Amino acid sequence: MKIIYPGTFDPFSLGHTNITARACAMYECVIIAVSENIYKKPMFTLEQRVEMAKLAVADIRNTEVIGFKGLLVDLMQEKGVHCVLRGIRGMVDFEYELQMAQANRSMLKGYEPIFLMPGENYMALSSAFIRDLLRHGGNVSPFLPKPVNEYIKQFYDRI
Ligand code: ADP
Repeated sequence: MKIIYPGTFDPFSLGHTNITARACAMYECVIIAVSENIYKKPMFTLEQRVEMAKLAVADIRNTEVIGFKGLLVDLMQEKGVHCVLRGIRGMVDFEYELQMAQANRSMLKGYEPIFLMPGENYMALSSAFIRDLLRHGGNVSPFLPKPVNEYIKQFYDRI
């Protein structure tokens, strides 16, 4: 069975890699769907975020990375996938995810959210924290997959 892992991935972190790897052990294919999400005003363009996700999971065989604009449920129908993977780091994530899942379920029959908990090293890690470090010249390398860190160095020569 295939599962879609949607997100902004701005940028793709070690927390995202951790969730992807866990799901890859359980599903035939994990489709990482990078959302345009213009309302969040991402730091990186959709193309850059797709590129970083591809670099991050290049070594994981059963992954596919795509960019998408529009509704997740439309993408799911297009791909014929009913399971959606999301990471849960705590109660805040959980409340938000329940609301999103309920809304999506009302639009797509059979919508099945699957929640995974990351390894303890990644529980407090967020892309927002990484973006904050980048803005202020902090060291982001402990939080990013190596190739993503290399990619980002092009834009931020202080890291
Ligand atoms: P979104 O804008 O959709 O919340 P994110 O890129 O922030 O996109 O996150 C995508 C998914 O990855 C979400 O399910 C989020 O909870 C999960 N996630 C983010 N950071 C981590 C982490 N450190 N560990 C596990 N899951 C995470």
